[in-house]
Amino acid sequence: MFNSLSDRLTATFKNLRGKGRLTEADVDATVREIRRALLDADVAVPVVREFTGRVRERALGAEVSGALNPSQQIVKIVNEELVEILGGETRRIRLAKSGPTIIMLAGLQGAGKTTLAGKLSKWLKSQGHSPMLVACDLQRPNAVTQLQIVGQRAKVPVFAPHPGATYTELEHPAGDPVEVARAGVEEARQKLHDIVIVDTAGRLGVDADMMEQARQIRRAIVPNEVLFVIDSMIGQDAVNTALAFDEGVNFTGIVLSKLDGDARGGAALSVASVTGKPVMFASTGEGLDDFELFHPDRMASRILDMGDVLTLIEQAEKSWDKDEAARMAKKFADQEDFTLDDFLAQMQQIRNMGSMKKMLMMMPGAQNIRQQLEQFDEREIDRVEAIVRSMTPHERVAPKIINGSRRARIARGSGVHVSEVNGLLERFAQAQKMMKKMAQGGMPGMPGMPGL
Ligand code: GDP
Repeated sequence: MFNSLSDRLTATFKNLRGKGRLTEADVDATVREIRRALLDADVAVPVVREFTGRVRERALGAEVSGALNPSQQIVKIVNEELVEILGGETRRIRLAKSGPTIIMLAGLQGAGKTTLAGKLSKWLKSQGHSPMLVACDLQRPNAVTQLQIVGQRAKVPVFAPHPGATYTELEHPAGDPVEVARAGVEEARQKLHDIVIVDTAGRLGVDADMMEQARQIRRAIVPNEVLFVIDSMIGQDAVNTALAFDEGVNFTGIVLSKLDGDARGGAALSVASVTGKPVMFASTGEGLDDFELFHPDRMASRILDMGDVLTLIEQAEKSWDKDEAARMAKKFADQEDFTLDDFLAQMQQIRNMGSMKKMLMMMPGAQNIRQQLEQFDEREIDRVEAIVRSMTPHERVAPKIINGSRRARIARGSGVHVSEVNGLLERFAQAQKMMKKMAQGGMPGMPGMPGL
């Protein structure tokens, strides 16, 4: 996401490096480049105009005289303005003071509402809530079944009194969505769920009947939050769609879905700004865990290739196996040898952190090595695993004994070429060296990341 915008902006800033002072002409040239980059990323014209106007004014203003060099000053200003158009502060869900918190989802068909319902409920559950889903999309064929499936996966109950439309009876969808919504909220209240998420029907385009139905549901259930889900890939249509939904259902927050696609990112940068509503969540894939709280400041850092270290750390904390980490720490403390089994365990830890590529892309400066990352093959970890598993326990703790004939045997056993076994042993030797240094108080790191 935002790859090309990010490249363009960083290239623009590079041009300023080494300049001792910025003339008005320098600022204008930079602002022009930023304007082009934003327009090419499909950011809406009025948003671009306002954004570049503010950047220019601030860049020429008094604040450009501090301790930062000119290129750093511009990056700082652009960063702050990006945070601003992405909605400023991170916004959390407003919980109801009594009774269940009601969250209604709205958006075009295919925007990703049903998928989001699953992701959101899974995340809420992990936060200690007891959410329930309500299937009010009785229009899209099989939407109800789809919601039931995501509910099952997220282990969250789904209230679905009507089967909704199927492909054969498109014309006569069963049931009244407004009634279902109302009954769903009542059910949640009685069963003491503290959050209820109401999935509603969308159409392929903005449509008066659909909007009326959404409005009626909103009136019937009086939600605490109305989340407008928008497909980040819809480009320039994003603004009009967002404005129509804002007028129709007066949503309270935005969810950007499909941010994993090669969307140019313009929707993300435009909708919050034109509606004045905050982006609250981002959906970044088809899986239930491909979901993030949206932090405007972190997103701005990612766009400017300053890396999203905070998200990275949070993901690491979430998936890091604490027992394993403690075991390693003890090993260091006792100055025990780092073995091939440890090496494998560490790689598995890395894999647990989810898609390695996604994770590495959040590192500062990752844009420079993006090509390498894109070629990076996560199956590499599988191969390493196969190789280590083909070694005897003794070989794993004393790799020095792995001579030519052992290497050939290991290669055969794991179905790889001998050169791969050699490569792994070399990387392991390096990692072992690094671990020794760490044990003596060096920097913690992740040794042996394959292929990089
Ligand atoms: P709805 O009509 O708004 O309920 O949309 P769905 O939830 O059915 O999503 C439409 C399609 O987009 C489905 O094929 C989803 O798997 C897919 N989808 C939803 N969210 C994402 C996302 O964040 N990334 C990607 N790549 N696909 C998504």
